[in-house]
Amino acid sequence: MPNFTLPDDVFIRAAEQFPTPFHIYDEAGIRKTARAMNAAFAWAPDFKEYFAVKALPNPAILKIFKEEGCGLDCSSECELLLADMCGFRGEEIMFSANAMPPEEYDHARKLGAIVNLDDITDIDILEKHGGIPETVCIRYNPGGDFTLGNAIMGSPGESKYGWTKEQVPVGLARLKALGAKRFGLHAFLSSNTINNSYYPKLAGILFALGAEMAETCGLPLAFVNLSGGIGIPYRPDTPTVDIAAVGEGVRKEFIRVFGDPATAGVGIKTELGRYMTGPHGWLVTHAVHEKKIYRDYIGVDACAANLMRPAMYGAYHHIHVCGKREAPADHVYDVTGCLCENNDKFAIERPLPKIEKGDLLVIHDTGAHGFAMGYQYNGRLRSAEILYTKEGNFRLIRRAETPEDYFATLVE
Ligand SMILES: *Cc1c(COP(=O)(O)O)cnc(C)c1O
Repeated sequence: MPNFTLPDDVFIRAAEQFPTPFHIYDEAGIRKTARAMNAAFAWAPDFKEYFAVKALPNPAILKIFKEEGCGLDCSSECELLLADMCGFRGEEIMFSANAMPPEEYDHARKLGAIVNLDDITDIDILEKHGGIPETVCIRYNPGGDFTLGNAIMGSPGESKYGWTKEQVPVGLARLKALGAKRFGLHAFLSSNTINNSYYPKLAGILFALGAEMAETCGLPLAFVNLSGGIGIPYRPDTPTVDIAAVGEGVRKEFIRVFGDPATAGVGIKTELGRYMTGPHGWLVTHAVHEKKIYRDYIGVDACAANLMRPAMYGAYHHIHVCGKREAPADHVYDVTGCLCENNDKFAIERPLPKIEKGDLLVIHDTGAHGFAMGYQYNGRLRSAEILYTKEGNFRLIRRAETPEDYFATLVE
């Protein structure tokens, strides 16, 4: 897989046209990834990638996924409204969340979305709010730790999601009694995982459980939903997932459990967010301040309100300085935003080329869970979003907030 990037000229021209900070997304890159994903699972019956809306909830992006044959994974009322607004219909929408306001099930059912139940008690809620559809998906939580080889990749036993194994046959019997004709099985066991065997291992678990439950409960398994969790290389030295190998790994597991995909009658769904758009977005910001105390600081005009991941998770985001990609990284900086919070740092003790005030900095991999996690703390406003189109133009797909937006919800 190529390491997606854009030439500096693109960032510089965009910054001439739009005030910084802004997020910019590469349409061609997103389409390429969507196609690679669809190609990797071309063997799979009824395959659909349901892009996780929460990763990048902008209609211009969602419409690209529609054109590439993807569906949407929604987890709230507003995300359902977005899906509807972008022309997604019926089973092109997956609806899953936990502790869901019951009325949101009504909305999901009205759109004909596939509902993914996070808890066994949600059966009764769904029955009263929209009714039990013929196909229902349930979210499985195997408990304990989830490992790949010797590495612990996640601790489902500590996570709030899903059903225990014991609950699955009880809930399926109840769903059957209420009119369900078939079921889907979903699990999300590890986040941002760059190991090619994550999906195959998860698939093996869900295929085996699905086959067992179909037999015990007399309801056919309609599909397995491998959810999200495939990661991206935030650090330049991290390998990229080989999505073709992932698809092939899942195919082997499929054949092992169900035999020939053409006749097995079991579909495959995914709900990737980060993998689909993460590497195709950048936060573009100017260096506006330089400060030397016990460390050297570069202040930029973006802040954690525009990209929360470093502050929230200590996440690494690669940064480069436009025009200085090849310059030696012989200075060490903390790159900071302006929030009155010391965790508002995009980089800590990061070797970078010498930065001058006015330099254009590009923060990588902000295309998923970047703008989307934005907020307004300290009276800092959400930025614009720009689409770098496949034709090579810049399209403003969300304007920056203004003080009027900040005050719009106040009640006298
Ligand atoms: C967040 C989420 C996803 C997408 O996760 P990524 O890590 O972005 O791939 C998919 N499904 C569900 C239910 C989620 O909550």
